[in-house]
Amino acid sequence: DISHQPPEFVRQHFPTIHEKLLGLGIDMTKGPIPVVPAQHYTCGGIKIGLDAKTDLPGLWAAGECTESGLHGANRLASNSLLECFVFGEAAAKNILECWDTLDDPPAILAWDESRVTDSDEEVVIKQNWTEIRRFMWNYVGIVRTTKRLERAAHRIRLLREEVEDYYGHFRVTTDLIELRNLLECANLIVQSALSRKESRGLHFITDYPVTDPVARDTVLIP
Ligand SMILES: Cc1cc2nc3c(=O)[nH]c(=O)nc-3n(C[C@H](O)[C@H](O)[C@H](O)COP(=O)(O)OP(=O)(O)OC[C@H]3O[C@@H](n4cnc5c(N)ncnc54)[C@H](O)[C@@H]3O)c2cc1C
Repeated sequence: DISHQPPEFVRQHFPTIHEKLLGLGIDMTKGPIPVVPAQHYTCGGIKIGLDAKTDLPGLWAAGECTESGLHGANRLASNSLLECFVFGEAAAKNILECWDTLDDPPAILAWDESRVTDSDEEVVIKQNWTEIRRFMWNYVGIVRTTKRLERAAHRIRLLREEVEDYYGHFRVTTDLIELRNLLECANLIVQSALSRKESRGLHFITDYPVTDPVARDTVLIP
């Protein structure tokens, strides 16, 4: 709320945001700007070494999809972009170093679409997509409870069954594959959160509000 300042001050200091907000019907010279929390960083992810290598041969990862060890239960402010540069370069270096020793990719069978048909139910994908977004925000958001995490896990199970069935019967599309990936990610996040019996950094669960004296990994190992 900056409405205590003279309107001229606000217009001069924040011309861009002032104009943007006016377009949304909000006058910041007269009242507070509504704010909501939003997801800003994915904390956790694919384990990599200092060379950005994963444990899957031929796969390197850098940036927000990884767990490089740089961040703990909190993201270190402003280090995320830097992390992309550092690990991007490390990955490139390591790929170049082992380029000649990399195995050829395995032969891939010809795609067989003989037993699937075009879906006339694409609304299912859209609906499931929206559903994941909503329950992940509401049940697996900033403040968690075991009960809500279990509810989310239950929904993920149902959706996975539905998507697997869909996947087997209809021609695959990018949206369908991404829906499957979203469910995988959602499941990993929920399983990891459920195995954490403490609150630490941005991982807050009301059933276990206290931080354990010793940090215990909730890294999921296949
Ligand atoms: C509002 C906000 C403010 C931030 N401020 C800062 C800051 O001040 N300092 C700082 O250090 N960090 C900041 N961050 C964090 C930082 O921006 C991110 O951590 C960083 O940009 C992540 O880069 P990335 O390359 O890992 O992922 P992304 O930038 O998310 O790149 C992933 C790319 O993959 C693409 N992609 C996704 N799915 C597919 C697919 N199936 N096929 C092909 N491509 C795909 C996406 O389109 C995207 O281009 C901020 C983040 C936000 C949201």
